[in-house]
Amino acid sequence: MKKSDWLMGVVLTAFVSGMGCPVNADEYLNGIEWKEPPLVVPAENNGAPSDAVVLFNGKDFSAWQGADKWKIEDGAMIAGKGDIRTKESFGDCQLHIEWSAPTPATGSGQGRGNSGIFFQDNYELQVLDSFENKTYFDGQAGAIYKQTPPQVNATKAPGTWNIYDVIWTGPRFNEDGSLKSPAYITALHNGVLILNHFELKGDTPYNRPPQYKKHADKLPIRLQDHGNPMRFRNIWIRETKPTIGVQVKKPFLRDDKGNEKPIE
Ligand code: MG
Repeated sequence: MKKSDWLMGVVLTAFVSGMGCPVNADEYLNGIEWKEPPLVVPAENNGAPSDAVVLFNGKDFSAWQGADKWKIEDGAMIAGKGDIRTKESFGDCQLHIEWSAPTPATGSGQGRGNSGIFFQDNYELQVLDSFENKTYFDGQAGAIYKQTPPQVNATKAPGTWNIYDVIWTGPRFNEDGSLKSPAYITALHNGVLILNHFELKGDTPYNRPPQYKKHADKLPIRLQDHGNPMRFRNIWIRETKPTIGVQVKKPFLRDDKGNEKPIE
């Protein structure tokens, strides 16, 4: 008997005898009534998912404030004088943004291709030309500024497009202003994981330790002007919401005749 025939025999025997293959087993049910997940049409051709808010589609600054010194060229916005902020405010979200550093590269360290994406106006995910450009690690591309480096450096060469996909969970505050739960960030850089549910220690200034200061649940997304003509394109955001389910009964088992049984 060939080894494969023997194996098939074992599998068939197990199936027939019910071994490891629960033909008449009770079904486990968790007792939660779930709300049906809404339908979302995924992005196609570099577009945005159907439920996303498009923050920049290559045409205008209509979603932004403070952009009078920034410009648009070839479907990309180019950083000019002053930070810009979204007109709309956001809390927990999924953000997609593409950025490109000037070529030829000029300057070095923090002076080369520097910008930043601030969630809730306070927490910076660093944007920097970290392609063959050393700086302090918690200040390179994909760092939470002054708190953690990215897990890896996945930066593409200046002049090409880098993509950030970010899952942001904002901090929660108690009535008295104290911190209820910190902010968390998960981020992919060009499809590579760089931050995995990283817990922020607070905001991300240059000149003092991070701190949490009570703020609104939703605040603008901010893009930093750090003196370099960084380019951005294809920016969209989805507000994320928890899945909704109500525990209507205790978890239970159901047999093949539909009878419900408690879990022993
Ligand atoms: Mg920066």
